[in-house]
Amino acid sequence: MPYSQAPLIGVLALQGDVREHVRALDEAGARATLVRRPDELESVDGLVIPGGESTTLWRLATAFDMMEPLRKMLSTGLPAFGSCAGMIMLADRLVDGVPGQQTFGGIDMTVRRNAFGRQVDSFESDISLTSMAGPPLRAVFIRAPWVEQAGDEVEILGADERAGRIVAVRQGPLLATSFHPELTSDPRIHELFVDIVKGST
Ligand code: GLN
Repeated sequence: MPYSQAPLIGVLALQGDVREHVRALDEAGARATLVRRPDELESVDGLVIPGGESTTLWRLATAFDMMEPLRKMLSTGLPAFGSCAGMIMLADRLVDGVPGQQTFGGIDMTVRRNAFGRQVDSFESDISLTSMAGPPLRAVFIRAPWVEQAGDEVEILGADERAGRIVAVRQGPLLATSFHPELTSDPRIHELFVDIVKGST
């Protein structure tokens, strides 16, 4: 669908680094709006699920009656981008969640929570992503998950060099990164997502 104006992209504003995603979406040429309630989902062309803490996101999404509406919209084609905790929320399967922890799902992958371990809780590294022009991307990892297994429909966009683990994936209109592009000034991941929302990639 061609867009004559900038797409309207919601940022799930239950918890996490919401403001940083709003800024990054602005810079990538989208209009950003905060989404907390199911009816606010109706008007958006795409959704960002921020980094933060997936157990809190899950609990708040349950309290705000967002689990089912979001599951449904993600399974019927709403474009979404999840960073870190947001990647966890987009995973069909989760390892090392807390008891009972649920995700929205959408991407046919198994994600391991807090995968990089205590010693390397947080770190930065350069990552080359498939089909991304320009220099490697500076990636910020904070108690990050990795993708342990991905189904045939999932496109692997990149792995970290240290552990050789998958840290960026795409399945149709769903994009997920273990790291936080919203915490750097490199706009390329958000630009990619805006292009996905526009249907131009
Ligand atoms: N470890 C967090 C979780 O389980 C994710 C951390 C992050 O988003 N920076 O949700």
